[in-house]
Formats: sequence, C-alpha cells, structure tokens
Amino acid sequence: MNAKYDFLIVGAGLYGAVFAHEVKKAGKTCLIIDKRSHIAGNIFTKKMEDIQVHQYGAHIFHTNNKEVWEYVNQFAEFNRYTNSPVANYQGEIYNLPFNMNTFNKMWGVVTPDEAKKKIEQQRRANYVEHPQNLEEQAINLVGIDIYEKLIRGYTEKQWGRPCNELPAFIIRRLPVRFTYDNNYFNAKYQGIPIGGYTAMVERMIEGIEVKLNTDYLVEKSKWDSIADKVVYTGPVDAYFDYKLGVLQYRSLRFETEVLNIPNFQGNAVVNYTDRETPYTRIIEHKHFEFGTQPKTVISREYSAEWKLGDEPYYPVNDKLNSALYQKYKALTETEHNVIFGGRLGEYKYYDMDNVVEFALQKVRDVLGNM
Ligand SMILES: Cc1cc2nc3c(=O)[nH]c(=O)nc-3n(C[C@H](O)[C@H](O)[C@H](O)COP(=O)(O)OP(=O)(O)OC[C@H]3O[C@@H](n4cnc5c(N)ncnc54)[C@H](O)[C@@H]3O)c2cc1C
Repeated sequence: MNAKYDFLIVGAGLYGAVFAHEVKKAGKTCLIIDKRSHIAGNIFTKKMEDIQVHQYGAHIFHTNNKEVWEYVNQFAEFNRYTNSPVANYQGEIYNLPFNMNTFNKMWGVVTPDEAKKKIEQQRRANYVEHPQNLEEQAINLVGIDIYEKLIRGYTEKQWGRPCNELPAFIIRRLPVRFTYDNNYFNAKYQGIPIGGYTAMVERMIEGIEVKLNTDYLVEKSKWDSIADKVVYTGPVDAYFDYKLGVLQYRSLRFETEVLNIPNFQGNAVVNYTDRETPYTRIIEHKHFEFGTQPKTVISREYSAEWKLGDEPYYPVNDKLNSALYQKYKALTETEHNVIFGGRLGEYKYYDMDNVVEFALQKVRDVLGNM
C-alpha cells in the first residue's frame, strides 16, 4: 500500500475502465477499486449454460458516434444483433417500436396513409386540450387502443402508480414509425460484444491493478492519500455522506432461471404490457448472440421501489431530485482533486456510448492539464 498512483479510479464500470485505459496509455499510473466482487459495473455479463447472461439487465450497444464505435471495437468484435423487441399483451404479440407491423396487427391497416388516418381518428376521439396526466397525454399522442394495450400496464408497472396519477411530462412524445421497420434504435452502429461485456472491459483494463470487494467510502482518507487524483463513479450523494439529502432512484429485480428447452420466447426481449403480469419483461439471453445451446436462460424483470441500500438503476429526474443534484454538483466543484463521472457520479441516465464519449472527453481534458 506504499505505492503512489497518479489516479485512483473508484468503480470498475465502463466509465472507470475507459478512463483507466487512457491514463495507462498516457504513461500514468492508476489503481482501480470496486466494492463489488466483479469488474464491468452494470454491464457485467457472466456465462451460464454457455450463454452470456446480462446480470443487471439487457444491454445493447448502439451509437451514431463513429469515434465511440471504433473505440469499443478495439476491445471486442461486435455481432450484428439488432434490437427488435416485441410486446405481449394478454397473449397478443405486437412489434415495437410502434410501426406499420404494430398498426397492421392492431387495426388491419396496410398502408401508411391508412395508419395515419386511423391514429388521427383515435386521437381526436378522446382529445384533451390541456393534458393533466400521463394517461391524457398518451391518448392525445397515439389514441386509446395503443395506450390501453401497449402503454398503460407497462408504464404503471414501471412507475408503481396509475397513469392518471403520473405527470404528463414523462411522455413528451411517442415515436411512431410509418414503415415496416422493427429496428428499435435509430442508430448507425449496433451490436453485442462477442464473448460478453465483461471480456470487453477486461481487455480495456489489461495490465491495470484492480482491487475488488473494496468500498472506497469505508476508508476514504486512506485511499485519497495514495493517489494524486481520484476518479469517483459511485453515487454522488454517498460521496458527501448524504448531507443534503438522498437522491431517489427506481430499482429493478431480476429472477433468472435456466430452462431445459432450447428456445423459450423466440426473441431476446419481450415486454409484458398488461397490468396483470407482475414483471415488465422477459429477457432470453441466448438470442443476443444467436445461441444454439440445448438449454436457455431467461430473466424476468420486475420494476421495484428503491430505498437506500438497494441497487440504484434509474435516476428520478423530477424537479425535487434535479434540484438536489444541482446542490451536490455545486459541492463537487469544491473537490479539486476528484473527478465525478458516470451514471451515478452525475446522477443521470447514460447509455453506454454516452459514457464512453464523456469518459474520453474528461480524461483528455485532465491529461492535457497535467
Ligand atoms: C436496466 C438497464 C438497462 C440498460 N441497457 C442499456 C442498453 O441497452 N444500452 C446502453 O447503451 N445502455 C444501457 N444502460 C446504461 C448502462 O448500464 C450505463 O451506461 C453504464 O453501465 C454506466 O457505466 P458507469 O461506469 O457509469 O456505471 P456503473 O456500471 O454503475 O459503474 C460504477 C461502479 O462503481 C462502483 N462503486 C460505486 N460506489 C463505490 C464505492 N463506494 N467504492 C467502490 N466502488 C464503488 C459500483 O460497484 C460499479 O461497479 C442500461 C441501464 C440500465 C439500468
């Protein structure tokens, strides 16, 4: 423990890994610590029955940023997986995002013109001038049929509250596509790293010292003393011992099961959009990699209330939490040797490509000033 590092990186997730890789490449020394027993943070994948299982929820890499795409491709070859989720509403299957396949199944319309007319008619039938809640807002945008079958139940499970008690601003717009295209992400580049995300992160941090099962905040001053700069990717409020209050999250719970059949649902992602099914979706992991194994692994995903100590998944970007985060952000600016980054350090939902982009920007800035 006598070593003096240029950087201590708290968190072996994607942000920490990109930062560490660049620091090492620039000839600086660094140590990564993580309180979990594994690297890769929330993009951690682990083999079960020879299938890469996404332990913290389904992760599909998608980006329009060529630099980011080329960057991650240094560490993994990506397959051609394209996210085309389907919705199961009481046994009826609909394509997502809402597109011509969805409209054809819902109403029998065939041409974009017919679909547009049908949606317009549905919207007008229940239009509310000033929508006061999410239900009114959604019906204004896409009409009653799509709302009832594909939005209502799923949203209520996600938020744990009826749609007419949720604020309208949660849904500003609902993407509607008048083509028969089921590709969920409108991204130029998309795929899953062959061999899993953990192997990709392993390659990023090759040759860098990592200590797992190590909580920075338990012995903060000891860790601070061994490095010139700290890169902190944990929860920003925890860093300050919650002295201004606790930032809220929504959480998730997964039930993962091995099934002795080769194919359970024929697709990687199936959303359950009725209110009665308690989970929001089922992930069948092998379909991310076109697996042909004799067994299959599925994860039922449940939306869950969050309390301090639970796994934080989605920041709650309402007025209260946003205002509280701004106060913490002001405090981070007084910590001159600490860089706060990543989804928890910045209390923001980031896709993986954002995380890579922002970590690269930050590390270049920091190295440029050294
Ligand atoms: C359910 C779900 C699905 C998603 N799907 C996609 C997707 O399909 N495509 C996409 O692009 N993005 C997706 N994302 C986003 C993606 O997960 C994030 O962009 C990415 O994981 C963020 O990386 P990070 O390094 O910022 O955070 P993390 O991966 O959370 O890493 C932070 C690390 O810091 C560690 N840590 C925290 N506190 C301490 C401490 N005190 N001491 C030591 N270590 C600490 C944690 O253990 C963790 O390992 C999804 C997110 C969720 C929640």
